[in-house]
Order: sequence, then structure tokens, then C-alpha cells
Amino acid sequence: MVARLVPPTRPATVDTVVERAATEAGMAIRVVPAVERGTDLSGLVVTSTAGRLGIIFAPADARTDYQLYIVGHELWHLIRRHTCSRTAWTAEYTSRWAAWRSRRREAACDRFAQRLGLAVRRNQQRASHPIARIMLDEAFGVRP
Ligand SMILES: [Zn+2]
Repeated sequence: MVARLVPPTRPATVDTVVERAATEAGMAIRVVPAVERGTDLSGLVVTSTAGRLGIIFAPADARTDYQLYIVGHELWHLIRRHTCSRTAWTAEYTSRWAAWRSRRREAACDRFAQRLGLAVRRNQQRASHPIARIMLDEAFGVRP
């Protein structure tokens, strides 16, 4: 999935990743950088009731790699269609099973976000070192 979201032949940004993720999630996705520092939230995703639009609320004034991490975490919730009717900071889990499932999902989202961040960093390094990109393209038979 990470390989499908990071464009192989052009520089990856939060926007290019989100654009490709929309295809994978089967819905339009908008990122709204509106989460302020000092709140309990780092990110949040909501979907329209018809499931045609996902809105990711991301940190407003964070470094790009942190913003990408949060967007990546929320993208995995969207792609895997995780739903949640409670919020961890306002209510207790209804059962140990619910707690375990929620923590497992959060860990999966974090792993995805980490892998996405590494892939984007690698992509940007290739873009900033054209000779390395040319050699990689040559090695893997990619034509411009
Ligand atoms: Zn989460």
C-alpha cells in the first residue's frame, strides 16, 4: 500500500500521497490543517454518512514530516474503514475486547504512518539527487 501511495517518478508531498490514497479509499479526501498545539488531539478523521468524503484534521503548525505522520495514521483508518462511536478521552472501553481491538488498530495505523514517512523521505532524497534517481530508474527499467 505504501508503494502505491508514494509516486515513483515525481516528488512525494502530503498532497500527492492524499491524492493517491483517495483512489485506494474509494472516496475524496481533504486535509484540513486545523488542530492547534496544546489540545488532546493530534489528528482526527471523519467521513460523510454516504462514505464519499473523508476529512482529515491535521496539525496546523507542525513540521511537514510530523504532519505527514498524522495524515498517514488517519489515512490508514480511512483505508481500513475503521469506525468508532466512542472517544478514548471521554469514555471507558465497554469491554477488554474493545480495548484490545482499538489499541491494535492504533498500532497498525502508527506502523503504516512510519512506513509511509520513510518511503516519502526516500522519494524526496531521490528527487534531490537526480543522478541517484537516474541510476535507480536505469536499474529498474523505468522510462521517463
Ligand atoms: Zn488513530
